[in-house]
Amino acid sequence: MTDNKSGQPVRVMICAFHQETNSFNPIITDMARCKYGVVGEGEALLKMVRGKPFPVTGMVDAIEELGGEAMLAQVIFTQSGGVVDHPVVETFLQNMKAAIQSAGRLDGIFITLHGATQSTQMDDVCGYILETLRAVAPDAVIAASCDLHANITAKMLDNSDYICGYWTYPHEDLYQTGTRAARLGMAHITGGGSLYAAHVGVPMIAPANGYNTTEGEFKEVMDYGRSLVDQGTIVDFSVFHMQPWLDVAEGGSSTLVIAKDQAAAKKYAAELAQRLWDIREACQVELWPVDDVIDFAIGNNTGKPVVLVDSSDSTNAGATGDSAAVLKRLYERGFPVKTAFVLDDAAAVKKATETGIGKSAAFILGGTRPELNIESIETQAYVVSLHDGIFAQEGPTAKGIVVNIGPSAVLRVGNVDVLVCHHTMGNGDPQLYRHFGMEPLAYDMVVVKACTSFRAAYEPIAAKICVANTPGVASSDLAALPFKKLPKNFYPFSHMDDYKISEPVVWDICK
Ligand SMILES: [Zn+2]
Repeated sequence: MTDNKSGQPVRVMICAFHQETNSFNPIITDMARCKYGVVGEGEALLKMVRGKPFPVTGMVDAIEELGGEAMLAQVIFTQSGGVVDHPVVETFLQNMKAAIQSAGRLDGIFITLHGATQSTQMDDVCGYILETLRAVAPDAVIAASCDLHANITAKMLDNSDYICGYWTYPHEDLYQTGTRAARLGMAHITGGGSLYAAHVGVPMIAPANGYNTTEGEFKEVMDYGRSLVDQGTIVDFSVFHMQPWLDVAEGGSSTLVIAKDQAAAKKYAAELAQRLWDIREACQVELWPVDDVIDFAIGNNTGKPVVLVDSSDSTNAGATGDSAAVLKRLYERGFPVKTAFVLDDAAAVKKATETGIGKSAAFILGGTRPELNIESIETQAYVVSLHDGIFAQEGPTAKGIVVNIGPSAVLRVGNVDVLVCHHTMGNGDPQLYRHFGMEPLAYDMVVVKACTSFRAAYEPIAAKICVANTPGVASSDLAALPFKKLPKNFYPFSHMDDYKISEPVVWDICK
């Protein structure tokens, strides 16, 4: 494929800055924390992402399939957490500026963003990154892939040509989303014809475990969008269901439609926005009191475990992962059910290592930062096993992907087996327990600290899945979170029964 202007092969630079910020987690995401994800530059980076289901890999493959030259410059693709230490953003941009300036002719910059990222200095990191890249390479076509949970801002739209969001939740189409964005960008570079975009903001959030794309009403919304693409009515669409732990003034869900026809872009962006708005109540979650889940597990005689979902403490949703609230309640009730439990607690791992396998000692479990007031428990615990913390996930969503939760130990407290580690990953995958000798099927109750990613693996083996009302910065009880910046008129904080979906903002992308 050649650039229609120069007759030379199309040259595109690719990069990623992907972090989902939980505004309520006070632990700043510095570079050391970013490294729990994928961080890298240059040749080694390409080797690292080749064949893996990352959006940047989809971008590289799409560009190369179309005969272009893909230059993978830099990737920071990391887990959810507290706001990003702003120097991490500036270092990323300095590196990108240097790469762009030394690249020579550049037709495009394709970037993977999360889309809901705050730093210690700004609420719209993704808009700032796009604005900076555009200023450095004003003639380059900018195409971005974003998470389905992105907060799409005016600055992001003003400084990019294409934004494509994931179509699935749990997210199974990262690679495909990179491909979608890259193909749109490549068509633009080579003069693929005029396209229009339409964007509609929807002032709502919902707990992340209130909807998914495998069943229910949100699936119907996404299926409808996909049918429009399949039929050729529109070229691309995204429904951004903003993640619910981002406290910013310019925040909200939105829809974005790209079509050859201006009227179609406008019509379907509005229609998808209306459909999203219409399911706002269905996306809220009913929470089980922890005691009710324990009681249910006591009475359960199916031979399968009850899954207690402690999503409030999910590191996938940017929480700290060190809440011992459920463990404490089991302790107070005399350990009525055999339970599998997991905690981020590096100090407990150290103590377990010092104590040694087969011995007991006094431990403080959880609440690793006293200033955060997270539940902990002081108790005797028996050291069952010690581990390096590296394991391959069994899937289905992340089958074969190896994660590293750092040095780890299995402790026994009463009849609860507690996996203590440095940083929980693969939260929804049964290997998080199985690999460490904790077979989920052997327990009465399994505590899973994840929002939705666990369902595909756990639904077939669970007697019941109960989303529990537990404390934490990723609580599904959104009214309990200390929002300060989100607009006042915003669902579910305001019911807005008379709200009318606003008119789409429409523009000619190729102008
Ligand atoms: Zn997401």
